[in-house]
Amino acid sequence: MKCGYCQRQANHNRRACPVKKRDAEMFEVHRFPQKFSVGSLVVGHPAPPRWAGERPRTDWTAGVLFHILSEPQPDYHSWGGMYDVICLSGKDAGKRAQVFGDFLNSI
Ligand SMILES: [Zn+2]
Repeated sequence: MKCGYCQRQANHNRRACPVKKRDAEMFEVHRFPQKFSVGSLVVGHPAPPRWAGERPRTDWTAGVLFHILSEPQPDYHSWGGMYDVICLSGKDAGKRAQVFGDFLNSI
């Protein structure tokens, strides 16, 4: 069957989805912010759901290589802070952007 949460072919349904359970735990324990340093290379990875019942995200940042240009600027949601970045790959390569820290992973 196809899981209604993670959209994978799996032997579980939305209610029993292990991805959903893990996402809920991450949100509850506030694993963010993760801290990145100016000059670091990081890769975009959509944040886990931020709201109860939200599905996994897809986002333009997925798989994009970024160069961190700033310290994290505080965001009151505790979503990892907002970083100034320059896109190094993808259709926005060469452009500057701002990305929340929970949409970034270390390489
Ligand atoms: Zn699932």
